Amino acid sequence: MTTPMKDRPATVRLVDVTKHYAGGFNALDGVSMTIHRGELMAIVGPSGSGKSTLLHVMSTLDRPTSGQIWIEGELASELSEERLAGLRARTIGFVFQQFFLIHGLSAVENVANGLLYRGVPNDERLERARVALGCVRMQHRLDHPPQKLSGGERQRVAIARAIVGNPAIILAD
Ligand code: ADP
Ligand code: MG
Repeated sequence: MTTPMKDRPATVRLVDVTKHYAGGFNALDGVSMTIHRGELMAIVGPSGSGKSTLLHVMSTLDRPTSGQIWIEGELASELSEERLAGLRARTIGFVFQQFFLIHGLSAVENVANGLLYRGVPNDERLERARVALGCVRMQHRLDHPPQKLSGGERQRVAIARAIVGNPAIILAD
């Protein structure tokens, strides 16, 4: 029997989160939500409605103006930058809207970089990167730099980088 979603542990919880940008614009205005382990959630809305802002705040890459962000039981919105970087490296994989792959590096090196802050030795990083690229069917393009890949292929490399550390949470913009 599978556990009902509402009884699973919360992996991301937002409580009354706001994000005000300079100029007085409220991109997020009191957002409360919970994402449970194993849950697949889509956030939809017109462009400019705050989806990227919500994902960046949820990923701890950006701080909320007010409210609480809980990640895997830790109150992320109160952690120091250093503790936050550790929590993020252990728990979150992020696929950016613009991918942010490094042009001077091959596909496999870009993906291996996803493990840089996890203390994994270099050889193992590369091996795990090859496996992750295989998961997205990119094993034939390991040595290509991003600028020699198609848009869809770049997206798959970015996904491989997000999943290589087997994070509890994957956020894809
Ligand atoms: P979406 O991803 O849904 O298209 P965003 O979260 O990127 O929307 O943006 C939401 C709103 O916040 C937009 O109106 C945008 O102009 C504004 N915004 C986003 N980033 C900034 C910023 N750094 N400074 C000021 N306003 C911003
Ligand atoms: Mg966006």
